[in-house]
Amino acid sequence: MPKQQIKQILALQDFEMPVEVSGWVRNRRGSKNVAFVHLNDGSCQKNIQIVVDAAHIQEDLIKKISIGACIKVSGTLVASQGSEQDREILATRLIILGESDPEKYPLQAKAHSMEFLRENAHLRTRTATFGAIFRVRHALGFAVHQYFNEQGFYYWQSPIITASDAEGAGETFRVTTLDLNKLPKTDDNRIDYKEDFFGREANLTVSGQLEAELGALGLGLVYTFGPTFRAENSNTSRHLSEFWMIEPEMAFYEAKDNQDLAENFLRYLIKYALDNCKDDLGFLDQRFAKEEQQKKKEEQSEMGLLEKLRFVVENDFERLTYTEAIDILLDSKPHKKKKFKYPVAWGIDLQSEHERFLVEKHFKKPVILSDYPKEIKAFYMKQNDDGKTVRAMDVLFPGIGEIIGGSQREENLEKLKQKTDELGLTEELWWYLDTRRFGTAPHSGFGLGFERLVQFVTGLSNIRDVIPFPRAPLSADF
Ligand code: ATP
Ligand code: MN
Repeated sequence: MPKQQIKQILALQDFEMPVEVSGWVRNRRGSKNVAFVHLNDGSCQKNIQIVVDAAHIQEDLIKKISIGACIKVSGTLVASQGSEQDREILATRLIILGESDPEKYPLQAKAHSMEFLRENAHLRTRTATFGAIFRVRHALGFAVHQYFNEQGFYYWQSPIITASDAEGAGETFRVTTLDLNKLPKTDDNRIDYKEDFFGREANLTVSGQLEAELGALGLGLVYTFGPTFRAENSNTSRHLSEFWMIEPEMAFYEAKDNQDLAENFLRYLIKYALDNCKDDLGFLDQRFAKEEQQKKKEEQSEMGLLEKLRFVVENDFERLTYTEAIDILLDSKPHKKKKFKYPVAWGIDLQSEHERFLVEKHFKKPVILSDYPKEIKAFYMKQNDDGKTVRAMDVLFPGIGEIIGGSQREENLEKLKQKTDELGLTEELWWYLDTRRFGTAPHSGFGLGFERLVQFVTGLSNIRDVIPFPRAPLSADF
């Protein structure tokens, strides 16, 4: 018999047929003669009920069906008399694939705290919540590839090990094979990286952008989807040390095209999840509602999770410049009543409290901010004619803050080289500058933090709960 997933059995139209499933016991009720088992194999949110009775199955086997155990069942799919399900499997054959001591199994049939589940990340995928999160994560990842394929983009791999620290400003993880206890030294007593594996300093990438630009300036439309690493010591609910980033880079796209793509892309991804993850999002919607009830009235979200997702799909994002945003902030109640922790003035790097005010209080929808002061943005962003701002854009989401950061790139060799000269990067980035030296072209791109997207769609408040094995300062278990 071909292997059947519980998802498939739950979709069958005809009953009274033989079926076979394997899965983990979520719960069992009943006596030593008959057990009602809730079985889940990860294929979907719902469990299937298995009825195991002593008329068909040996009693000592029935005894071993405990929470956490893994079993394989053959039997007949029948209509259920219970009110909670329309069908169940009447077991005629049962194999205990893996016993589990119910006294010691960490996951009980009750709600556990997210902290506890993080400490048990090796088992948390067997819970209803994490099953839902990781299935939604999968769907969103699949939709990323589908979207770009439909739009004529090519999937491009930027290197994970790089020798440039162009953006990281020291927030990189070093890659080395040197013996840290016996470091080779140069004559002036510095570490001699010529002796290292690559013959030079190397680190894990903080962004695949610079190499994605090389892809775009030949293939036209490319995107990366890979891991990035940042050694920033920010222990927030929105930062990981290892996270996945999607970075499209497009030749012949200017700032507005970049904004249009970012908005269209995000709405497509969220719609894909709404259309394809109904059960999981329905479950997460209820979970979200319960979590919100625990919060103070003024901190509660005005919309439910599904409502929020539909709202983003159906409404245009608000677009305005950084300068306009500063004016709104200067004119805002929290600024006038000195409620913001950080000061507001033209030139500041917006703090999360400012971004959240704009998105959650003022506009009540996603916001695209553009044309930031050049001093607070990266060297490769295209300079505006005003001499003060660059063609940057950040997409800000409710509850998340920045979900996308991007820009039109500087294509003018002189202007770009002036910047790399200032930063002492001209020599190191000769290959990057070459693309402006030979056949330069206007182009744009952005980076979407995949976990922040998954956070938004699943309604999870901590980013560590939307990646299977989170990496954060002082935390690299599993
Ligand atoms: P933030 O100000 O929130 O730290 P950033 O300005 O450092 O973000 P970018 O360098 O523009 O972000 O990176 C692009 C996107 O990658 C961000 O918009 C965000 O979605 C995501 N991102 C950045 N840093 C992290 C991180 N440490 N963990 C998870 N996602 C991140
Ligand atoms: Mn950052």
